[in-house]
Amino acid sequence: MKTIFLALGTNLGDRLANLSAAIDSLAPEIRVTRKSSVYETPPWGFTEQPAFLNMVIAAETSLEPRALLEYLKKRENELGRVKSFRNGPRQIDLDILFYENLILDEFFLTIPHPRLHERAFVLVPLAEIAPEFEHPLLKKSIAELLRDVDASGITPFSV
Ligand code: ADP
Ligand code: MG
Repeated sequence: MKTIFLALGTNLGDRLANLSAAIDSLAPEIRVTRKSSVYETPPWGFTEQPAFLNMVIAAETSLEPRALLEYLKKRENELGRVKSFRNGPRQIDLDILFYENLILDEFFLTIPHPRLHERAFVLVPLAEIAPEFEHPLLKKSIAELLRDVDASGITPFSV
């Protein structure tokens, strides 16, 4: 079994339900071992859209990286179909942050996720469950990476 970290994001529909549906959809190939809290993040990229909910999970899998990406894309598509129109925006984004200490740079798959160190909405939840984990390329812990970003917009989400 390999240890992986995944980022979950959603900004459409019932966002909390989307997160739990996504987590439930990961079995049997992915076994979730730790979950961060849920955070609300102001819209990024296109700012004319609803706020995101973000969280991070640690998990175990025997899927190889490319098979893991395919598996996650299938789960995204299944969940996105629930309430979205054809070609409508996806309700869930599932990104691979780390796969053990693997470094991989392929056209369709880059691990570690190439933008995770710039994203407070990833680093804040990741620091909750894996503060000591060292980024295999940057050679800094998650706690150290978090110190270098502005996390002021990331707020704990409670219902
Ligand atoms: P984003 O996650 O950047 O908002 P998408 O979810 O549409 O956008 O992802 C676009 C593509 O990024 C995916 O189809 C996938 O092939 C590629 N990709 C590259 N590296 C990764 C990774 N570490 N995790 C998930 N997707 C990745
Ligand atoms: Mg993605």
